[in-house]
Amino acid sequence: MEINKSSNNEIYRFGGPLQIGLHQDGKRLTPQRKKILGLFEDKGSGNHLSAEDVHHLLAQADTRVSLATIYRTLKLLVQMGFLHELELSEGGNRFELSSQDHPDHHHLVCIKCGRTEEFENEHVLQTGRLAAERIGFKLIESTLNVRAICPDCQ
Ligand SMILES: [Zn+2]
Ligand SMILES: [Zn+2]
Repeated sequence: MEINKSSNNEIYRFGGPLQIGLHQDGKRLTPQRKKILGLFEDKGSGNHLSAEDVHHLLAQADTRVSLATIYRTLKLLVQMGFLHELELSEGGNRFELSSQDHPDHHHLVCIKCGRTEEFENEHVLQTGRLAAERIGFKLIESTLNVRAICPDCQ
């Protein structure tokens, strides 16, 4: 059975998000959206930014965008397949580049400061795959988010 790891794999064979063109699902990558996506590209994959982080980085670059607009834009970039959203109960959601380099990774998240570290684990992927297969679900991803307290916050 073919496992569909990520619906975005297709587009990444042709370059990063900014090289792909302006349309994806009929939505436009406006200059502001491009700028926000550019922040993630500059940081590279493996970085997890909150809406507040993006707000802060834009302010440093002398770009004033309201937090509400940033949040909407991030959600849109997720819908367009450029970003992946980590849903965390504490500390708000974080966003990272959708990446073919490490599509199947998991997160260790500090519930106090939001520090997020990645790890890989084949057992988690296999368990998700088997569970989905057993009841006939089509697998999209198996991601484990581990809530923890980092050394600095202990
Ligand atoms: Zn990650
Ligand atoms: Zn911490």
